[in-house]
Amino acid sequence: MTLLNFIEQYPDEASCKAKFKEFREQAGVVCLHCKGREHYWKADKECYECKHCGYRQGLKTNTVMHKSKLPFRYWFIAMHLLTATKKSFSAKELQRQLGHKRYHPIWHMAHKLRSAMGARDGEYILAGRIELDEGYFSTEIPVSEKDKPLKRGRGSQRKSKVLVMAESEFVESPRKGQKPRRVGYLKMKVIEDLQSDTINGQVQKLAQCATAIDTDDSTSYVDLKDFVPQHNAVVIPKDKVGEHLPWVHIAISNAKRQLLNTFHDVKPEFLQKYLDEFCYKFNRRYFGEALFGRLLIACVSYKNEFRYVYG
Ligand SMILES: [Zn+2]
Repeated sequence: MTLLNFIEQYPDEASCKAKFKEFREQAGVVCLHCKGREHYWKADKECYECKHCGYRQGLKTNTVMHKSKLPFRYWFIAMHLLTATKKSFSAKELQRQLGHKRYHPIWHMAHKLRSAMGARDGEYILAGRIELDEGYFSTEIPVSEKDKPLKRGRGSQRKSKVLVMAESEFVESPRKGQKPRRVGYLKMKVIEDLQSDTINGQVQKLAQCATAIDTDDSTSYVDLKDFVPQHNAVVIPKDKVGEHLPWVHIAISNAKRQLLNTFHDVKPEFLQKYLDEFCYKFNRRYFGEALFGRLLIACVSYKNEFRYVYG
């Protein structure tokens, strides 16, 4: 959606609220008491009343805006900014654009939107041929590690480990300039360690429908053959990763660059949220202007589970 379209469609709080209500009712309002699906809209109190048991709930209840005091228009502007560009927005930048006094409500809002993106993508299970590799993302040193000596390299406290999986089929007789593999859905998961049990668990959960999996020859992947019909482990020299695992490689470097450009000092506990946003947009890269509406559907469909006392 262009900025002009956005301003035309959502000029004020009432227009945002009406759109949100429309989407909420399309998704279906469910009674929190009896699970009934038929409701009256009480316009004077701005709430739904269950036709069966009379239980009332507000317009924001059980959505991503659950208990939020921010105006609908803030949410809509944030959704527009997050979907209108490939880039992301820091909470500081959102706060500046909105001209809001306090930082923390805006920071929470941004993370709740990312949670909705993550929840939506969480419903998808990877299928077909898959590239798998791990990435090491720079993050702040966790509080529990602050007094310990700094380790170097991949095991450093400044690095978070991320398992990256991408659906990636070979293209039959690619045209000139066309990539030899076609990418589908992408997933990135922050993991505690690279033990094979950890990797196995994630693959079983996120890629149940995989028919083949391509990796390097790391010992972390030795059991994958037990879960996937075909496992191709190849010895990959460092400078050839782009050839053997092209899409996970591209995804990792793009995500790293985006994080570096937008955020300063990502805390390890929030890295997953930023990756969720990156994957959500990557997985909908051809949606164009429809992306805003898709995010709105996600927002009415998921109650936010994001809780964090900012200290
Ligand atoms: Zn009810």
